[in-house]
Amino acid sequence: MPELPEVETIKKYLERKIVKQKIQDIKIFDRKGFKGEKNKVIGTKILKIKRKGKFLIFILNNSYNLLFHLKMTGQILFFNFLRNSEINKATKVIFVLNNGYLIFNDVRRFGWVKVVAEKNLKEEIKNLGIDALNLTFDDLKEILSKTKRPIKLVLMDQRRIAGIGNIYANEALFLAKINPLKPANSLKNEEIKELLEAIKIVLKKAINYGGSSISSYVKPDKRKGKYQEKFLVYRREGEKCKNCKTVIEKIKLGGRSTFYCKNCQK
Ligand SMILES: [Zn+2]
Repeated sequence: MPELPEVETIKKYLERKIVKQKIQDIKIFDRKGFKGEKNKVIGTKILKIKRKGKFLIFILNNSYNLLFHLKMTGQILFFNFLRNSEINKATKVIFVLNNGYLIFNDVRRFGWVKVVAEKNLKEEIKNLGIDALNLTFDDLKEILSKTKRPIKLVLMDQRRIAGIGNIYANEALFLAKINPLKPANSLKNEEIKELLEAIKIVLKKAINYGGSSISSYVKPDKRKGKYQEKFLVYRREGEKCKNCKTVIEKIKLGGRSTFYCKNCQK
């Protein structure tokens, strides 16, 4: 699933390409993937692109927004010219802009884009926690103190912290040397500090590498991200820990694959 670094990479790319452009038309291929009335946004200009957690938001010039969630396998592509070969079974929506074509693809079909009146945007994302890049020590301490659930599950809980999914929860916990099963409220101040630092380091590094392309995620120009080449533990089960050479283990936690070094992560 695209997480904060992947959505941020898409946002940065689109900021350079489609801000100030006009939406001339919207072609919907999968009705389930487009919520709301397209007529409300045809003819508008894209003023700004924002991200909150894993949501991408286009601010338009008529008090409407477009809210995207890529879910498991969503892709956003942008091309100046549209080749027929770019349209396939995964294509949900094509936005025809002044300067090109924004294509929203999703193989698994859970992703969506929604037309939202600006005044309703807050309501739409009201359950979303603090964006992981804005998290402070006090925020994190407060969030962790309220629950004894395993720390990894709390990091991935979008209602508490927005943007961290399975990849970056695994990576940050390894970097902070914290066991993913550890009860959240048992972390000491020093560990919380280490964890906060690790979260920021991992997310920023992943953004610098254009995100992780392990399944369908690509940048809007279809190039792959490169952070998957830098994984510390994610999908490295059976391989040696980069710190201590202990074999990395894989367990299931909350139904998700969890990777860790039992020697380094106490
Ligand atoms: Zn180790």
